[in-house]
Amino acid sequence: MSIVTRFPQATFEAASALVAPAPLVDRFGRAITYVRVSVTDRCDMRCVYCMSEDMNFLPKRDLLSLEELDRLCTALIGRGVRKIRITGGEPLVRRNIMQLFQGLDRHIESGALAELTLTTNGSQLARHAKALGDAGVRRINVSLDTLDPVKYKAITRWGDHAQTLAGIEAAQAAGLAVKINMVALKGMNAEETVPMLQWAHGRGLDLTLIEVMPLGAIEAERTDQFLPLNLVEARLRERFTLRETGYRTGGPARYVHVAETGGRLGFITPLTHNFCESCNRVRVTCTGTLYMCLGQEDAADLRAPLRASASDELLHDALDAAIARKPKGHDFIIDRDHAKPAVARHMSVTGG
Ligand code: SAM
Ligand code: SF4
Repeated sequence: MSIVTRFPQATFEAASALVAPAPLVDRFGRAITYVRVSVTDRCDMRCVYCMSEDMNFLPKRDLLSLEELDRLCTALIGRGVRKIRITGGEPLVRRNIMQLFQGLDRHIESGALAELTLTTNGSQLARHAKALGDAGVRRINVSLDTLDPVKYKAITRWGDHAQTLAGIEAAQAAGLAVKINMVALKGMNAEETVPMLQWAHGRGLDLTLIEVMPLGAIEAERTDQFLPLNLVEARLRERFTLRETGYRTGGPARYVHVAETGGRLGFITPLTHNFCESCNRVRVTCTGTLYMCLGQEDAADLRAPLRASASDELLHDALDAAIARKPKGHDFIIDRDHAKPAVARHMSVTGG
């Protein structure tokens, strides 16, 4: 073969090595820019709507290592992902988890990643808040369903209210913006949305209310827990002036501005208002299973391609095949005729 014929081939190979893999866009034209990564299915609490009291957890060897998690996140960032939320289970109970944040900070510094954040129950925040800030985390979500320590114990089973509040304080002291996630639970905290709103906004915290979703088998009946947020919102509107805002955080919440408190209030309403048409998200479990939709069973194994080769080619092929199958939406229903969970896996497995 002459040099003349070999040259274009070599040029072509060099050029294709330089071409970045294409952004992840599904067949409905939705670009995947937001990934929630669960780093553990374990937790130091047992919230009644999330877990059963005696859960079986995955063997540790099934989990992606911190290095594999970094490699996966880096590959996703290379495909156009701009926001990564670390979640679980309780992400801060995973051993050495700060190493993952510290490693991913390089993508924040380079500008490739716009936001690195986490959702936590707050129990371990007091000791990690400063390091999170140092690793480029700017905003976090902390779950807090009640201001009453006795009710907190009833809801979380193992949680300590004072410890969570101390975690929130430490996060604010470290300069992190904190958003409180409150799952609306019929008969448990329905009367608390007003005091929670006043408490949160009084401390400069955003508040997001979440409808309970039928994920995983738990002891309680979902119909006994489900509180439609349109009812909660109507009640809040009797007392407060709620103005629609165009504010988005890249997630599913719709935000209003509360005139009386000057704060922001979000609603996540997968059941009463479906937001799937604008879904930009996928979720990865701690074992490297990619769920293209929180509310559907279809999934893709990313751990096998990660472990099969040191190069990311197989991983990118698996991502392409998976995103091409991302469903149009979920089918959550909670009523007396739908007593079983819509999806068998718990929220702590898929990552909230
Ligand atoms: N352990 C962390 C925490 O509680 O914030 C992160 C994981 S947790 C699964 C993430 C979020 O999902 C929390 O805000 C929690 O309240 C919410 N969640 C858990 N199970 C849920 C369910 N069945 N329906 C709606 N939200 C749920
Ligand atoms: Fe743990 Fe979070 Fe689930 Fe509560 S909601 S049991 S804190 S993972």
